[in-house]
Amino acid sequence: RGTLMQGKRGLIMGVANERSIAWGIASACAAQGAELAFTFQGEALEKRVRPLADGIGSKLVLPCDVSDDAAMDAAFAQIKSEWGGLDFLVHAIGWADKQYLRGRYIDTPRDAFLQGIDISCYSFTAVARRAAALMGAGGSMLTLTYLGAERVMPHYNMMGVAKAALEASVRYMAADLGSDGIRVNAISAGPIKTLAASGIGDFRYILKWNQLNAPLERNVTIDEVGGAGLYLLSDLSSGVTGEIHHVDSGYHLVGMKNPAAPDI
Ligand code: NAD
Repeated sequence: RGTLMQGKRGLIMGVANERSIAWGIASACAAQGAELAFTFQGEALEKRVRPLADGIGSKLVLPCDVSDDAAMDAAFAQIKSEWGGLDFLVHAIGWADKQYLRGRYIDTPRDAFLQGIDISCYSFTAVARRAAALMGAGGSMLTLTYLGAERVMPHYNMMGVAKAALEASVRYMAADLGSDGIRVNAISAGPIKTLAASGIGDFRYILKWNQLNAPLERNVTIDEVGGAGLYLLSDLSSGVTGEIHHVDSGYHLVGMKNPAAPDI
């Protein structure tokens, strides 16, 4: 157990279960002495999140649906009254109607598009504004994105468009909050089998393709995303803001299929 995050308090939004990327980041921060609070979406997930939080000694476990402004206000009010301040924020939340995470992007209807971009992009802006108000002594914020923001991935569709907007919002908020000593970054994670990922069409094929064609010739784990998250949330990265940091076995640099990889 290390001390890199000793004395720091962080809010983790987006744990659904022990396979969640948010849980990988939370575990890495807890192992370095951070004190953590968690939010969950709905009662069904509370049953999963509460025991995980208990296991690392976290006492603050709060409901927060990010499509609901009043729920966000209530969660941040409670953090303010319990802790008085906040040092870091993890936003690992994404959602789109899975009916449209297959087929063609062009067929996305307006309501599905707006709901997807609200939860997958705007929610980071909405929680960042509330978190920044609690980060008096500076802080670090982190969100999660995917290569589908930069390049076309089959089935990722409106999530790719939402992630592109999310990445742009990281840069705008890094500029907005820099003078307050608050840093804003994103991790662009390679594909990992989680609850959210299971909604994406042909996800198993995407996992296999990445494994065969990434420079490291394997997929990444939530612990590896956790390690990079720990760096971005800690003072080790004190000079870094507005960055989209790839944790994807190097897949983002590949321009063509690995000729040595078998056909799948
Ligand atoms: P996950 O299913 O474990 O986590 C997604 C979380 O989003 C869940 O905890 C869910 O409750 C939460 N959420 C959805 N709608 C919400 C709402 N309205 N209010 C509050 N919370 C809500 O899956 P994950 O893969 O760990 O996803 C975390 C983040 O990582 C997402 O932004 C996802 O797009 C991103 N990401 C995932 C992968 C991957 O392959 N798994 C790759 C790159 C980026």
